[in-house]
Amino acid sequence: MSALELHGVGFRYATRSALEDVSFNVPPGHFTALLGPNGAGKSTLIALLTRLYDLQQGDVSVYGCSLRQQPRLALRQLGVVFQQSTLDLDLSVEQNLRYHAALHGMPRKLTAARIDEELARQSLTERRRDKVRLLNGGHRRRVEIARALLHKPRLLLLDEASVGLDPASRLALNRHVRQLCRDEGLSVLWTTHLLDEVQADDDLLILDRGRLVAQGRAADLGGDDLAAAFERLTRREAA
Ligand code: ADP
Repeated sequence: MSALELHGVGFRYATRSALEDVSFNVPPGHFTALLGPNGAGKSTLIALLTRLYDLQQGDVSVYGCSLRQQPRLALRQLGVVFQQSTLDLDLSVEQNLRYHAALHGMPRKLTAARIDEELARQSLTERRRDKVRLLNGGHRRRVEIARALLHKPRLLLLDEASVGLDPASRLALNRHVRQLCRDEGLSVLWTTHLLDEVQADDDLLILDRGRLVAQGRAADLGGDDLAAAFERLTRREAA
């Protein structure tokens, strides 16, 4: 069964179409990269997958649960890291996580155990009492990943999670998420506009102007030169 399946998903804002007939699968336990230039529709797609926006056309299922028919079951299997950080900078790492768990109605004992586990997994145990304001960008992102995984979702969505990080932290975060995928069997959908966050073995989806223009193993799509393929697929016509 696919971790995520989209069928004919379309979405329009009042004046413009943002997604047209988008269909793809994210296989379980894999790192899938969704690559697209700015304005391609990546954030709109994430907003639909998390039900921030209602589906207008098509359907989405998460591990076989339809977002239209069984939204609660579908969402329960989903963890999300949004592009804009939503951490409270003046709360500690642990307080941020506890607050999130309380909002989701997680029982106290379970919350404490899960926070311990996730902080250890993100190598953040020693920072648990620090205010988030004291953490660098890469560590803040890890706190958001820990938070997204508290309820043990099987699929993690990250919307341009590396934006704003310096190049070294960007690649470290990318490596870290790949490791979660490898070691824990987590399914990942990683959206980005940066080609160097894609590796040859990734399942790659290329989105451009609301349409999926390519999908497959990155090495197969790009041959020797993925950059040239990406450029060709997303080339803008001269004005
Ligand atoms: P990406 O995340 O790939 O940069 P977006 O999903 O943000 O792309 O945007 C897709 C398209 O939808 C763009 O043309 C963008 O200008 C448009 N768009 C995004 N948000 C809105 C909005 N709230 N209202 C109208 N148009 C929007």
